[in-house]
Amino acid sequence: MAIVFISRSDRAEDWLEGFRAAAPDEEIRIWPDVGDAEEVDIAVVAKPPPGELKRYPNLKAVLSLWAGVDGLLADPDFPTEIPLVRMDEPGLSEGMGEYVLYNALKYHLRDHLYRAQQQSGDWTPQERLVARHRTVGVLGLGVIGRYVCETLAAAGFNVAGWSRSSKSLPGIACLHGPSGLQTLLAQSEILVGLLPMTEETEGILNRSLFDRLPRGAFLINAGRGPHLNEPDLLAALDTGQIAHATLDVFETEPLPAEHPFWTHPHIDVTPHIASITQVDTGVAALLRTIGKVRRGEPLDNVVDPARGY
Ligand code: NAP
Repeated sequence: MAIVFISRSDRAEDWLEGFRAAAPDEEIRIWPDVGDAEEVDIAVVAKPPPGELKRYPNLKAVLSLWAGVDGLLADPDFPTEIPLVRMDEPGLSEGMGEYVLYNALKYHLRDHLYRAQQQSGDWTPQERLVARHRTVGVLGLGVIGRYVCETLAAAGFNVAGWSRSSKSLPGIACLHGPSGLQTLLAQSEILVGLLPMTEETEGILNRSLFDRLPRGAFLINAGRGPHLNEPDLLAALDTGQIAHATLDVFETEPLPAEHPFWTHPHIDVTPHIASITQVDTGVAALLRTIGKVRRGEPLDNVVDPARGY
């Protein structure tokens, strides 16, 4: 039995060190130097080359280093008959909690206005409310979305969350389905995108959605780039329907040099760093899942390929 680590994004050495420290007896092979593919029972992957996973005839599970699995499922040769387990480890949620809280506070405290005012020596105090006067709407109440809602609520914000199925979370207004989305949008001064990328969610951040937000709302998108209709956002910023946006994910990554978002005065760009799987807690999560696979126990966080997340 051997684990193959296949990544074209994450540094294999970092993960190898983590595995060696936590499970010195495990045999880890680093792609492309995989030896006899028949000996591999587990694949740990981040951005594997398309078709690569077909090469392992005795594979029992594919473990994603990332929470989002849209890239894996986009491979027409992905072996959907083998369980695909998305990453669920506390560091991913903590990172996203920090990213969203920081940006929500930035908007709440009108930092984007004061930075612009400073350029012209403009001493105009803006309305100074406290967080409980503002509602943040979070699209997606999954593992990470729930943690983000709790982090925002702990900081004092009014928080509403939206999911496909009905949910109940203490202190969070949980909404679902099309009517729930309407209710959430009508009250969200700050809107956070934390949905998975699926056929249903593609292009969801579009003109019709922006028009249902309070005028001058703020957008923080850390889900996936293709959720956002980019021309619609530019138009909504032009009219002031959206006052400012913080974007971590994009239709094309890296964001092309000539893209208008780079220089837009009302868009803050970050390079898909809102949250990154942490090696220490990530290795522990992977080893727990690997143990379950090998003991034949039921697995948590198995992706439903038909649903797309
Ligand atoms: P998750 O556990 O898979 O949860 C997804 C949530 O979205 C669920 O609440 C689900 O509803 C909801 N949802 C899915 N389709 C929907 C639809 N059509 N309408 C309404 N709600 C829908 O995901 P997660 O762990 O919270 O992570 C969310 C996403 O964040 C990931 O898929 C990834 O794309 C992104 N991400 C980005 C970064 C970054 O650095 N930018 C890092 C990590 C993750 P139900 O609960 O009803 O199923």
